[in-house]
Amino acid sequence: MIPQQTVRSILETARIEEVVADFVKLKRRGSNLIGLCPFHNEKTPSFTVSPGKALFKCFGCGKGGDVASFVMEHEHMSYPEALKYLARRYNIEVEEREATPDEILLQNLRERLLNLNTFAQNYFVQQLFETAEGQSVGLSYFKERGFREATIKKFGLGYSPHQRDAFVRHARQHGYQADVLLQTGLAAGSEERLFDRFHDRVIFPIHSLTGQVIGFGGRILDSDKSKAKYLNSPESEVYNKSKTLYGIFFARQAIARLDNCLLVEGYTDVISMHQAGIENVVASSGTSLTTEQIRLIKRYTKNITILYDGDPAGIKASLRGVDMILEEGMNVRVLLFPEGDDPDSFVQKHPVSQVEAFIKNKATDFITFKTKLLLDESGRDPIRRAALVTEIVETIALIPDSIYRSVYIKECSRMLEVEEVVLVNALNKLLRKKIGKKLQEPLPEEEQPRPAQPQQPPEEEFPPGYFQERELIKIMLQYGNTDLSFELQDEEGNPVIYREPVAQHILSDLQADRLSFNNPLHNAMLETFSRSAQDGVIPTSQHFLQNPDPEIVKLAVDLITSPYELHNWERKKIYVKTEPDVLKQAIEGSLYRYKDSVLKAKSDELTEKLREATDVDEQTALQIEKMGIDRMRMIINQKLGIVITR
Ligand code: ZN
Repeated sequence: MIPQQTVRSILETARIEEVVADFVKLKRRGSNLIGLCPFHNEKTPSFTVSPGKALFKCFGCGKGGDVASFVMEHEHMSYPEALKYLARRYNIEVEEREATPDEILLQNLRERLLNLNTFAQNYFVQQLFETAEGQSVGLSYFKERGFREATIKKFGLGYSPHQRDAFVRHARQHGYQADVLLQTGLAAGSEERLFDRFHDRVIFPIHSLTGQVIGFGGRILDSDKSKAKYLNSPESEVYNKSKTLYGIFFARQAIARLDNCLLVEGYTDVISMHQAGIENVVASSGTSLTTEQIRLIKRYTKNITILYDGDPAGIKASLRGVDMILEEGMNVRVLLFPEGDDPDSFVQKHPVSQVEAFIKNKATDFITFKTKLLLDESGRDPIRRAALVTEIVETIALIPDSIYRSVYIKECSRMLEVEEVVLVNALNKLLRKKIGKKLQEPLPEEEQPRPAQPQQPPEEEFPPGYFQERELIKIMLQYGNTDLSFELQDEEGNPVIYREPVAQHILSDLQADRLSFNNPLHNAMLETFSRSAQDGVIPTSQHFLQNPDPEIVKLAVDLITSPYELHNWERKKIYVKTEPDVLKQAIEGSLYRYKDSVLKAKSDELTEKLREATDVDEQTALQIEKMGIDRMRMIINQKLGIVITR
């Protein structure tokens, strides 16, 4: 459990624009920052971050909230997890109170798995550095590979001992249950007989985008061919292979800064390149590249350079993955290392300046690379050449941008010695087929015609008082804590001036007339204000953004970010000099307009009843009641300076 005071300091320190920028490439626009929304697939940015309001909001999919809700939503974290993440991000120490047994029971599965992973991670590191076995087997292996101690520590490399259940015993002694041991994949076997999945291996922890340990890779050191060289954690509640890139946590900033992502095959390639100072490197860690992984990279850059070691079979197998990158509209370059070298060995043999120059000069674009590769393979055989032309054109057809397509057609026509027009015809045929197929399928979300931007709907469609209620909540959210002096009359009619927070004033005014809001959500917010005010605290907008009810969070964000300004606010600013005066006027105006809406609804209801009433006495009573209400409306509207037209 995190003490309340620490929570406050975390939320005050964390800057939303910095936290979001770790995941989304943002550009400044006026006082806001915009970028492509990480929560839905879009081509034009509608995701907005307002540093001033400490909020984010996507005008495409409607997601919005404060810095903690961004982390929760984006990283699928619970609130405490998100706070801990932010604390780590800003080096704020979290002195966690020991959780009680009841609280432990309440922790969700994710938290339990992540806790165990962290525990295991510490254990493996300790085994590597502090035991004789770890040092002589694990540490010496890493050092032989050329890893320096600082690098080993940065990537959290570790060692899992030879004894088959060393970790399981250790974890059980510390109270970890069999179910989480099995679900993280740290243990295998059955609940009755558990043993270590990774025993007798060196350990490569796998970090999420935010640096949490979500899984492990273990490499065996003996040369027993019957065992897999690398073993990875199985999929779990916290580890999804197809959405993870090894090294992304350490690489993301360099990828964004250099506007290029280097893609390698193995853990050790990533680590060696980092050690050499080339940090924009990730690995797809064993699996073939997935669309989710490509989109993860696309958040930081549109450029990928794939680094291959010289094994042609491996390259051919990966071509399909590259087609997927092209489909995402990214630019792909390919770099082939000299025979017998992989990125790891190459980078250890050459000074970093040479490696950088090599990457820069030798990377070729993917289409050219693929054409050349297939061309070398097919030689002069005419049938295989025809098949090759088809294959290349199919790849070019994947590129969404027509200008790029025509550039590649030209280049391939030259390389393949095929007339350009032949390639263009083949390409067009493919594109038509693709379009035909697309027309039969439902459009993917991003290509569906966008609904017209929501206009303020005619007020008739909303229940009476709807907008007036929102206006009052909006004032309380934005100015609730502002102290203003208000003038009231005492019982003898003498003016009394007193100061109070805006929200308190509005609440007292509504309470005096025993008014509550019609809309249940609006009323829930009103009641929250009222309850807290009784304790002498006016809740801030932040308070509502952390509400467990997502509907409330959404409403709060909508109101804080809504483009509609306070009624007449701008216009009145012209006549009134000081801001408190403007605010006071806006408050009084909003209160009157709200009360008028309540009275109008009441008056309409009476009109309806009058129409149905048959009894004369009843009619008279209704008539009198209605006249009273209409008189009140008249007074209010006089105060508002509006003339009633009917
Ligand atoms: Zn969105």
